[in-house]
Amino acid sequence: MEKDVIDIKVLRYPKLAKCSSCDRVRDIYYKALIYDVEDKKQIVGDLELCKLCGENLNAAAGNELKPGEEVIKTFNFNKG
Ligand SMILES: [Zn+2]
Repeated sequence: MEKDVIDIKVLRYPKLAKCSSCDRVRDIYYKALIYDVEDKKQIVGDLELCKLCGENLNAAAGNELKPGEEVIKTFNFNKG
């Protein structure tokens, strides 16, 4: 099977930063590494994603959650 062009990693320790997708400052849970389409070893960029965006991208990429992983359905929205 061909290697994915997008490799989504889950960060062990979430950090507060601006999400590359929704432009909100959130806890960043995912890092998506973007590989060159031709040369699949070369990283051309990366995205830092909040939990929601990361999960969406993960699902869009066709990745299923591994057994034992739970989807957290509550989200904390920071006020202000
Ligand atoms: Zn986001």
